[in-house]
Amino acid sequence: MMAEMRLHFLGATRTVTGSQYLLETDRARVLIDCGMFQGSPHDVIRNRVPFAYQPGDVDALLLTHAHLDHCGLIPHLAASGFRKPIYATKGSVDLTRLVLLDSAKLQEEFAQSHQRFAKRNPDRAAAEDEATMAELAAATTKDPAAATRDAAPAATTELRAPLYTVDDTNAALALFHGIDYGTELQVAPGITATFVDAGHILGSAIIRVRVMEGDTERTIVFSGDLGRPGSPIIRDPTPVTSADYLLIESTYGGKTHEPQEEAIRLLGEAVKLTGDAKGVLLVPSFAIGRTQEIVYELGRLLSAGTIPHLPLYLDSPMAQTASDVYRAHLDYFDDDTRALITRHDPPIDYPDAVVTSSAKESVAIEHAARPLMVIASNGMITGGRIVQHVKALVADPAMTLLFVGYQGDGTLGASLQQGATQARIDGQDLEVHCQVRSISGFSAHADEPELLAWLGNFTAKPRTTFIVHGDPAAQAAFEPKVRALGFATAVPDWRQTVELT
Ligand SMILES: [Zn+2]
Repeated sequence: MMAEMRLHFLGATRTVTGSQYLLETDRARVLIDCGMFQGSPHDVIRNRVPFAYQPGDVDALLLTHAHLDHCGLIPHLAASGFRKPIYATKGSVDLTRLVLLDSAKLQEEFAQSHQRFAKRNPDRAAAEDEATMAELAAATTKDPAAATRDAAPAATTELRAPLYTVDDTNAALALFHGIDYGTELQVAPGITATFVDAGHILGSAIIRVRVMEGDTERTIVFSGDLGRPGSPIIRDPTPVTSADYLLIESTYGGKTHEPQEEAIRLLGEAVKLTGDAKGVLLVPSFAIGRTQEIVYELGRLLSAGTIPHLPLYLDSPMAQTASDVYRAHLDYFDDDTRALITRHDPPIDYPDAVVTSSAKESVAIEHAARPLMVIASNGMITGGRIVQHVKALVADPAMTLLFVGYQGDGTLGASLQQGATQARIDGQDLEVHCQVRSISGFSAHADEPELLAWLGNFTAKPRTTFIVHGDPAAQAAFEPKVRALGFATAVPDWRQTVELT
């Protein structure tokens, strides 16, 4: 007889951040991802809603990859009582260390600046705290995803108390176990996991979980974030041919990326225009994955003589360290990139790129001699150094804001990408006079035809295919196409529990 088996959907449901799933049997509890919500302020409040389970009762955590929306709550989980192993590929372990320490440091800095603000403006701080508490209460009781969609897009550079500290993070990092692709591991009583390459960022994985109870066996495949076939540097997503249950991401449901050559042409054009206008090219980008790819393409455009040599500022100390981690894991690279390296053609470098580490150096970029290019984190302008640059330059017609990644519903990035004439940052409404351009062909995510092609590898259809990690419009476009391939689909809600039979 099959034992009870349940899957709890705890994040990345009808949204693209906060990835987290709990698989529960009579004997074990295994968490897959423990990510941070990174959308609008109304979305982010969900990071403060108490966990839906006792962290101390979880037997293991399996991490698909190092992006903050998949790993960002791990230190909070550990500080809340989780003490068991965290399994991730060795590349993911190295990148996650950077991502989580950077996140903790930013949170501590924001908390300190909020304390200074509260000292100067005690009444306003008290009112804001009250509003935050009200939002938290609402997020705990009603559908926070709906609140996100209804809220006005805004960003803030100040948060309240840190969700976790650098000390919490170091304690959590001690729980990590670096594993290899393709090796099946026992992770909890009756549960094994196999990680295969997802081709999304260095170390990213699709995780196949096998649950064995008596002589019954069920396989659940978590796609994680799926990359694109033919992306530079890393390998293609691994085909999967069977599962009893499947969770598939749907970030780009309903969308087709422009071809890679067109993306590269558009990037070159933006650089040339910036050079001619003696302006600033500002590229919001998550520090890991996309940044390495953009730097790689800029370096190639420059050496081909297609673009002028504009100064490039990498305004993220983490982006540079992440590039070092990439170089330390050549075994994860695809054949083309390994061939480039053996020809001593450094594939992820741009000559004379300036890496800024302190906040002071970051602010100084805005006053540096133009033209110039800046790549700064994060990619959806919901936090990080990019917010300050957008605040300073959004009214400047000589600035081009170039989007190279997905902009989640309710984020300031999505609003600017859709042509907003005002941007609300730190409580101020700023006029938008900069140029805004978008390139989708650098995405680290598969587009819809690529997602459907990956599904086409299944020789036997899963009992249910859960569509996760997508905004509502993307999921609505994607689901009928998945059904048309013969898959039985479901789009789970936040904190929904499904019995797996
Ligand atoms: Zn990702």
